[in-house]
Amino acid sequence: MVSVPVQCPHCQSPEVIKAGTQANGTQRYQCQNGQCAWRIFLLQYQDRGRIPEVRRQVVDMALNGSRVRDTARVLRISPTTVIAVLKKSRRAATRQPRAGIPSLTRRPRPATARRRAR
Ligand SMILES: [Zn+2]
Repeated sequence: MVSVPVQCPHCQSPEVIKAGTQANGTQRYQCQNGQCAWRIFLLQYQDRGRIPEVRRQVVDMALNGSRVRDTARVLRISPTTVIAVLKKSRRAATRQPRAGIPSLTRRPRPATARRRAR
């Protein structure tokens, strides 16, 4: 028997318990850190768009001037996933559960990106 240490991918806390399985049989885990915003996680995700590192990259690329389709192509996830991640990240940052979200696609490019394009 081999014991594998499990850490929360959000807060790196080792205080983690098992929390049932997904429909496909994958083990789910729950972070026991009360301050952690991300309670349930898996060790192996089926979809790239669910991987915490990929979701962080979506937000980073948006902040650096990448548009939705640029981000989707580079990270090999769908444009709808990019939009969903950005909406959720904004909600988590502002802590307003039902806030209206301005159109992500018609957002003007940041000044730095526009200068480079010329
Ligand atoms: Zn956590």
